[in-house]
Amino acid sequence: MPQRVAIVSGAARGIGAAIATRLAADGLRVGVLDLTADHCADTVRTITAAGGQAVALGADVSDEASVAAAVDLLDQELGAPTVVVNNAGITRDNLLFKMSVEDWDAVLGVHLRGAFLLTRAVQGHMIDAGWGRIVNLSSISALGNRGQTNYSAAKAGIQGFTKTLAIELGKFGITANAIAPGFIATDMTAATAERIGIPFEDYQAAAAAEIPVQRVGRPEDIAHTASFLVSEGAGFVSGQVVYVAGGPKN
Ligand code: NAD
Repeated sequence: MPQRVAIVSGAARGIGAAIATRLAADGLRVGVLDLTADHCADTVRTITAAGGQAVALGADVSDEASVAAAVDLLDQELGAPTVVVNNAGITRDNLLFKMSVEDWDAVLGVHLRGAFLLTRAVQGHMIDAGWGRIVNLSSISALGNRGQTNYSAAKAGIQGFTKTLAIELGKFGITANAIAPGFIATDMTAATAERIGIPFEDYQAAAAAEIPVQRVGRPEDIAHTASFLVSEGAGFVSGQVVYVAGGPKN
């Protein structure tokens, strides 16, 4: 079995960093993609310190040319990627009547356009290899969440995108699945707590009380699920949305 090469977007921190680190520990070479190569340095250092192979890739996933350049650089440095994890994300929350066109476009641009551009840039390598794994980050917000018309539309869109990829690409040995996390403690949820004026500890405690397993999620919870979906043995799991939320919802 060849050593696989993965590209993980938004991998400088949070869930993306945990996924990149886990895939490297699983034996994959990893392209760590985030807005700048400098942003990626910590994740690359963590991977290489543990004996793994990684390269930093600076790119805005919503920009076609920079995505193509990042995939080319990864191909030259570590080999052609056949695993893509579309994890880069932003929030620009507001109630509909206060939501600007810029905030709508920014969120749809990173999550949906970004996932489309990066997947399209990698799919040729997967088809050449006759094998591939696509993992896209959705969210429980896909089911609806106050103040997130833009984000919930993007995360629901990710689910349709994923299922269609599974249908189109299955015959090439490629699977596509989505992970829909619940509340995960990261800079993203810390920023939400700050915006609504609640200490992050209190915000997490309130969330945990509503979650059946009585705790909030950690980036490693999502990395574990991504590791399974990327694994060689998961080739018959495709077009699925795996809610990783400590219960059936929340
Ligand atoms: P985070 O804000 O901690 O990290 C997101 C990363 O994406 C950052 O490093 C950021 O620089 C990068 N990024 C943003 N825009 C980018 C762009 N245009 N190009 C390249 N990189 C870009 O967020 P997180 O909590 O780790 O979330 C990761 C993913 O999981 C996101 O898609 C998010 O929507 C999703 N998610 C998070 C939660 C949660 O509770 N934290 C829940 C459900 C889904």
